[in-house]
Amino acid sequence: MNKRAVVLYLAITSGLLLLTIGWYAASFLTFGSALDFESESAPAPEFFDGTRAYADVQTQVDMGARAPGSQGHAKIRAWMRAELEKAGWMVEVHESERLGHPISNLIAKRSDALPQIILAAHYDTRFFADNDPDPANHTQPVPGANDGASGVAVLLELARTLPDDTIPVWLVFFDAEDNGRIAGWDWILGSRAFVNEVPVNPQAVVILDMVGDADLNLHYELNSDPTLRGEIWDTAERLGYGDVFIKTGKHSMLDDHTPFLEKGIPAVDIIDFDYPYWHTVEDTPDKVSAESLRMVGDTLWHWVVERGRN
Ligand SMILES: [Zn+2]
Repeated sequence: MNKRAVVLYLAITSGLLLLTIGWYAASFLTFGSALDFESESAPAPEFFDGTRAYADVQTQVDMGARAPGSQGHAKIRAWMRAELEKAGWMVEVHESERLGHPISNLIAKRSDALPQIILAAHYDTRFFADNDPDPANHTQPVPGANDGASGVAVLLELARTLPDDTIPVWLVFFDAEDNGRIAGWDWILGSRAFVNEVPVNPQAVVILDMVGDADLNLHYELNSDPTLRGEIWDTAERLGYGDVFIKTGKHSMLDDHTPFLEKGIPAVDIIDFDYPYWHTVEDTPDKVSAESLRMVGDTLWHWVVERGRN
């Protein structure tokens, strides 16, 4: 080899070496970034998905009746906890007792901060379909697609989609709402226990009850806080849901908002009480629509976000 050949040889070998190193480094970097991408949890969906909420109604009804003490009642609590934790919420159980019955309210939060907003629904269903037109069904349990499952479904989809920098929100799932006029029971046992025993003072409480009716008409509920009610109905109107959120009063309800109102905490009940299948065996998922759930969920999503960021 002459000097020129040595230089050429060195140039070629070092060139090849650099190429090998470069290829190796590049493949490593590519692999590394692919790994990073996959190791991130799926990004939170940005918009309230009515179809997913509707699937959650079906899932709950498939568990069977969720009346206190039933198998379905235990099942739904485990399932709600799993769904909430999957969406990044911490879950606590507020255990109590009313009229000799154990009460389990589920509380979901994203931080230890006290809530400025509470969004809530009852997860239990009524023991008896005593409003059914056929008296033979009066001893059957209510499937609760609308009366129970719809509110829970909206809360769970909000858990998945609300940005994590809103002002502190608690999602509360009340037990034992729906057994008034049954011996040994009463209405709203879970929310009464909560208001008495959990020391919170939120600016706003919103109750969701029977919000999934395919033929949805949400009139003002007459006991609700008028300012809060106006804010939410205005939000709905701006989003194009003015036909569904109707700005005239209709029913006065005793519901999970009542104990909060009695304590001077502004609360609203979002409820469509004109539901022909209320407390019948026909309260099934075919009476509920994804679009109704979406309109309610989307309204609350915007209302919460617009209340301020942390
Ligand atoms: Zn009911």
